[in-house]
Amino acid sequence: MKMVRTVTELREWSRALRCAAGTRENNTIGFVPTMGALHAGHASLIRAAAASCAHVAVSIFVNPTQFGPNEDYARYPRTFEADCALAGAEGADVIFAPSVEELYPAGGATFVEVEGLSDRLDGASRPGHFRGVATVVAKLLIAAEPDRAFFGQKDAAQVAVLRRMVADLRLATELVVCPIVRDADGLALSSRNTYLSPTERVRALTLSRAIRRVEELVAQGERGSAPLIAAARRVFAAEPSILVDYITLVDWATLEPVETATPGTLFAVAAWAGSTRLIDNTVLR
Ligand code: AMP
Repeated sequence: MKMVRTVTELREWSRALRCAAGTRENNTIGFVPTMGALHAGHASLIRAAAASCAHVAVSIFVNPTQFGPNEDYARYPRTFEADCALAGAEGADVIFAPSVEELYPAGGATFVEVEGLSDRLDGASRPGHFRGVATVVAKLLIAAEPDRAFFGQKDAAQVAVLRRMVADLRLATELVVCPIVRDADGLALSSRNTYLSPTERVRALTLSRAIRRVEELVAQGERGSAPLIAAARRVFAAEPSILVDYITLVDWATLEPVETATPGTLFAVAAWAGSTRLIDNTVLR
């Protein structure tokens, strides 16, 4: 596996493959952006990339611009050696691990703002978060010029923001969205789960319980936003130590609230277990 630290090297790797002999399909490039502390959710994205692309790059970069001033940038888990081993085992050919200065050169003044969408869901609770996400992903996609980039449905609002950005900037990369990977008990995997105490870990199951309850009600024919949200609120009410940030039913493309669930509607929750903010969601059928 190749280790790449600069944008120029990443671009050279990508362009060399573009120029290599063979058909276009033999040289497809898949890209998986991550902040490291890799787990089975990330592994599923790398596997999906390796299954559909001839070459796979994984970025490991804890992006400072997507963290608020009082958030966990400094203590975000960093497990670089283990991450490289996992990425290699799942089929990555290249690890792109730039420094902050490499992606954000001194004097930099350019950011990507996806208006409207960036203020909804997690963007409402974390001002500036999606500006940071859109900016770093734009930098990564412009550098790597991949055919496909792989993201998790786990961060469903992020997916909406990035789909809009790729369409608006007319980037040549197809976004592929992979299902949420969960622990056996239902908790959606997250690098931040390592922050949870054993008690918080148990209480955090409230999020996936609320998701399942809503899925059950939809399967029974309920379509109304108000009753679905009320049912989820009742699940959270049974575990008052978990503080709800949002519970919402939205159009997945616009992140605007909807009155009625239709196929493809996004039901999403965010909540605090102690000082750890967790998110979960389901795309209704
Ligand atoms: P992160 O390292 O948290 O920025 O996540 C990198 C990518 O992994 C994002 O596209 C996430 O949506 C995705 N991801 C994180 N957790 C999961 C999960 N449990 N299942 C599937 N994908 C995930």
